[in-house]
Amino acid sequence: MSGSFVPLAEARIGVMTHGFLYGTATFEGIRAYWNEDQGQLYGLKLREHYTRLLDSAKVLLMEPPMAIDELIAMTVDLLRRNAFRQDTYIRPTLYKSTEAIGVRLHNLEQDLVVFAVPFGEYIAIDRGISAQTVSWRRNSDLSIPARAKIVGAYANSAFSKSEAQLNGYDEAIVLTLDGHVSEGSAENLFMVRRGKLITPGISDDILEGITRAAVMELALGELGLETVSRTVDRSELYIADEVFLCGTGAQISPVTSIDHRQVGDGRVGPITERLTELYFSAVRGRLPAYSHWLTPVY
Ligand code: PMP
Repeated sequence: MSGSFVPLAEARIGVMTHGFLYGTATFEGIRAYWNEDQGQLYGLKLREHYTRLLDSAKVLLMEPPMAIDELIAMTVDLLRRNAFRQDTYIRPTLYKSTEAIGVRLHNLEQDLVVFAVPFGEYIAIDRGISAQTVSWRRNSDLSIPARAKIVGAYANSAFSKSEAQLNGYDEAIVLTLDGHVSEGSAENLFMVRRGKLITPGISDDILEGITRAAVMELALGELGLETVSRTVDRSELYIADEVFLCGTGAQISPVTSIDHRQVGDGRVGPITERLTELYFSAVRGRLPAYSHWLTPVY
């Protein structure tokens, strides 16, 4: 925090911090996977996450806090200092740190804080989950760009997730303002229809997910499946053969019912199952072809 390592309990911000008052901050959620056999902890796609952090910073009129290589080295140092020997979640937040009233993006100080904690599952991955198309709409590029991972925009995710969960579903599926499928509350969405892998495009108010890109790479490289990135209607999900959500937290989570309709035959589909196996092998350092995704910590 602010350029030095401190115990989590001492990492504190003032109540007048701009990023806290107005959500003027950007963050990343990163995972590191422990491989027991190798005695190794692997940071997953650190460069991609820090590249996106700097892209979000640009959108928010912030400066890069340091070079990407330095951000990666600092993160490895943080994980080493914690001596983690388990799956870990890393949360960098770059925030407007000036303690002042007055909403704006410009002429404000900024600061970077990164913490890391042991972490397991974020949503179920061992069974199919249920999803609801919620009544809230994804914040559009015209209001708060979904492409940038902006802290304040997560109120939109919170509205969506709570509507779904309070209605008895596991997850939310969120539509764009014009009624097309965007993504989950904190996950990108894929469907399989007639053997084709399909995902909403980058102009459908999605976060350009790093797991989304990883899934596309695995599907092409290992299953010979090219992903079609295009507009998806809500009703298409009802007749899809398979649907899954993916993200750093979510990993790959099969969706087996949407708005009271079974997806396919209501069981986890074969392509989702295969991609899940491949994903977990890759992130735990068991697929040499994807070792470039990983930064060994020890
Ligand atoms: N969409 C949203 C809104 C998210 O918060 C996340 C999680 N970061 C994702 C998609 C998935 O992105 P990634 O695979 O980069 O974690």
